[in-house]
Amino acid sequence: MSEITKITVKGARENNLKNVSLEFPKNKLVVFTGVSGSGKSSMAFDTLFAEGQRRYVESLSSYARQFLGNLKRPEVDLIEGLSPSIAINQKAISHNPRSTVGTVTEIYDYLRLLFARIGHPHCPNCGREVAPQTSKQIVTQILDKIKQEIDSTPYRLLILSPITRDKAGDFHGLTENLRKQGYKWIRVDSNIIDLYSDFGIVKTNKHNIDAVCDRVSVTKESLKNELDLYGRLIDDVESAMKLSNGLCLVGQVNDVSFEFPDQPRL
Ligand SMILES: [Zn+2]
Repeated sequence: MSEITKITVKGARENNLKNVSLEFPKNKLVVFTGVSGSGKSSMAFDTLFAEGQRRYVESLSSYARQFLGNLKRPEVDLIEGLSPSIAINQKAISHNPRSTVGTVTEIYDYLRLLFARIGHPHCPNCGREVAPQTSKQIVTQILDKIKQEIDSTPYRLLILSPITRDKAGDFHGLTENLRKQGYKWIRVDSNIIDLYSDFGIVKTNKHNIDAVCDRVSVTKESLKNELDLYGRLIDDVESAMKLSNGLCLVGQVNDVSFEFPDQPRL
């Protein structure tokens, strides 16, 4: 099927239009200009939009049509290449400064759904595609990165499970629950907190909270036993994903020290 590239109007006589015939390209911004009364609105609203909407309504079921009523056919001999139309008047419908053509017409809701279904999300920072991964794929990537980057100092990781994002509260129940499940540390915003220490979370502020599933220190020596490391990381990643319904954060510790730091720089 060849693509329709223009809209053809023949013999438009709506209001003060005097048998006007014209063609204009599709998928382009087309502007009507002229003095008051020259028929700009008669062409745009009373002919093109009226016919586009009439055809749209005709495509609906007779049940739906009984609520909409039959729309009058505009005074025109022929219109070709027209799609279902929407019209946005110059009068302000909404005073919300964030309104756009998409939100006012509610097309945005459909676009959002469409992109969510067929889109391939990409990371806004590095441009790489974001896709679900299995725990095996995650661990294989971690191991590859370690092997590429490891030197004489230990390569240290925090395996984190993101639990809350941007929520206020003291999270007393959550921390108690994590302790019961055997967790020793959490990360609140960027601070590691020992769950067995005397700590407080400011109730009125919003926080990001991650459970620390494991602190892993890898040396060239321990890499020789790759299978053990693989098994441990699989356990860590799977418990992280279980705790936060499928999410896992892996942080590389950047501090240059042999000990695992209390407040690692990720
Ligand atoms: Zn990225």
